[in-house]
Amino acid sequence: EDVANMVAAGEVVERPFNVVKELMENSADAGATRISVVVENGGVGMVRVTDNGRGILPDDLPAALQRFATSKIKNADDVYNVKTFGFRGEALAAISSVSDFSIRSCRKDYDGAEIRIKHGGTPSGVPAPAIEGTTVEVRSLFANVPARLKFFKSFSAEEREIAKFVRFFSVINPNIAIELSINGKNTYTATAGMDMTARAVQVTREKDLVYGESEYEGMKLSFVTSLATVQRYRKDMIIVGVNGRVVKDPSIVQAVVTAYHRMIPDGKFPACAVSLHVDPDKVDVNVHPAKTTVKLLDARDIFSFVHHNIKNRLDDAGH
Ligand code: ADP
Ligand code: MG
Repeated sequence: EDVANMVAAGEVVERPFNVVKELMENSADAGATRISVVVENGGVGMVRVTDNGRGILPDDLPAALQRFATSKIKNADDVYNVKTFGFRGEALAAISSVSDFSIRSCRKDYDGAEIRIKHGGTPSGVPAPAIEGTTVEVRSLFANVPARLKFFKSFSAEEREIAKFVRFFSVINPNIAIELSINGKNTYTATAGMDMTARAVQVTREKDLVYGESEYEGMKLSFVTSLATVQRYRKDMIIVGVNGRVVKDPSIVQAVVTAYHRMIPDGKFPACAVSLHVDPDKVDVNVHPAKTTVKLLDARDIFSFVHHNIKNRLDDAGH
């Protein structure tokens, strides 16, 4: 069991970045409208994610830490019909097997509860205050997996990766207020009042962005895209989200890039955020636990949907 968790941990948690991603996605799944992320020493020292989501019942808390004990799958078919970000039910089990871990949670009108696990050891329950929401604290990540720990020569590189993810996540989830603090310094804030455009402006540092949205055959698209005042040499400010989850999708990136053809020379790229909501059974998030790629069915339809909407919006803006 313990070994199985550690093997799974290697799959789900390659790096501190994955911890941040899994915890924030859990918070979003729980309907949080506020998430705070605290990171110390590259996330190896500590990652703490606090949300105001619906919380976990005290009696359900132990189960949340068990492998495959997800509240998000009711039967085998649900694995292929994922309404929420997570479905594997192994992130918390995996993370708690390779860290000094605690989860504290409280649901409205119930008592709070906390469970601590040190590097996969015996869980211990602790009473906790009745503050609605959930806090997960992950310390000394990989302290019991020296081989993995060796990878982290540079905390600052990991912190940059985490900071970028949190920023992108905030653009793709404009309904969630988000705060990030790294090594005691508040490094990023997206307030509740900031919509997708305001957040994209903050994250891309480009002012000349326009918003557009569209719906077609059950697909819903929102985007914020650059009027190309600034041209970049890398695609790294093309932010893609599918069902509220930050993903890597070369096809959607390409749909954006080709919409700019004639406006931007080859080898340069616009800033753009694309948030797509599709029927959950049109997306297979089951590709790889630690990867941010998804497999979209109807990828061609999605390509032209994104491409045409961005192109039309640019045309409207006089380009
Ligand atoms: P999954 O997200 O795939 O279900 P996890 O291991 O990430 O698996 O989480 C296990 C379970 O713990 C979730 O299904 C959910 O019920 C509960 N949970 C985890 N994080 C939170 C949170 N922040 N708020 C409420 N419930 C949570
Ligand atoms: Mg999860």
